[in-house]
Amino acid sequence: MDKAAMYKLTYGLFVLTAKEGQKENGCIINTAMQVTTDPNRMIIVVNKANYTHDMIMRTKEFNVSCLGENADFDVFRHFGFQSGRNVDKMTADYPHAENGIPYIGDVTNAYISGKVVSETDLGTHTMFLADVTDAKVLGGSESLSYSYYQKNVKPAPKPEKKTGWVCKICGYVYEGEELPADFICPLCKHPASDFEKL
Ligand code: FE
Repeated sequence: MDKAAMYKLTYGLFVLTAKEGQKENGCIINTAMQVTTDPNRMIIVVNKANYTHDMIMRTKEFNVSCLGENADFDVFRHFGFQSGRNVDKMTADYPHAENGIPYIGDVTNAYISGKVVSETDLGTHTMFLADVTDAKVLGGSESLSYSYYQKNVKPAPKPEKKTGWVCKICGYVYEGEELPADFICPLCKHPASDFEKL
């Protein structure tokens, strides 16, 4: 099997936000899609390692902000490569949707609010099926695709490095000849299979 074929599937990139009591949080996801129009429903798939995942499990509500091509790597560093368990990612003055949950107003072109209908346990991830309760177009930027991120947003790995493995998702470099099979990227939480040798 040629697993590289899996990279030919197209994806967008999104900031998923949630609110639980006073706690607001957000993370990056690449799996969000409309699945039916009547009723208007979508799915999101969220890594269980994300704190936002646990919040949505409890509150059953979220916003998806659709990143545009004007989003830079700092957006991914901020929402993707640190955990809301340790830092408050929502200190900036983010706008709030009708559901009371913040959305990301700049570097996005729309937000969509969802109310969870059901959850499916996928092992490492949970798939949430949700009713779309609100949505708004915000800007004119093209939606940021995963391949655009790979080509234009993610920093190129530094070539002077000796021997190691680079995460194809976020660019993190593991130094060493052999990458442990159970290695998890400390930045983006992707597994060893998403690393390639420098
Ligand atoms: Fe990574």
